[in-house]
Amino acid sequence: MATEAGAADAALTLPDQWCHWHAGLSQTACPIRFADRQSGPPVLLYACMPCRVRGLDVRGQQ
Ligand SMILES: [Zn+2]
Repeated sequence: MATEAGAADAALTLPDQWCHWHAGLSQTACPIRFADRQSGPPVLLYACMPCRVRGLDVRGQQ
């Protein structure tokens, strides 16, 4: 049986979550709040630990 380090191994590791504050993947990202949208359902925003410590300055982004 061939050894494939693929989906099986990936399932064992922590899934990366997208951090909306620094716009990147992080394993410490947690859902923080819903973002208001002018159209469509609200989007749940995730923030990683460093961004949460910094205070989630979401207004610094456009
Ligand atoms: Zn972040």
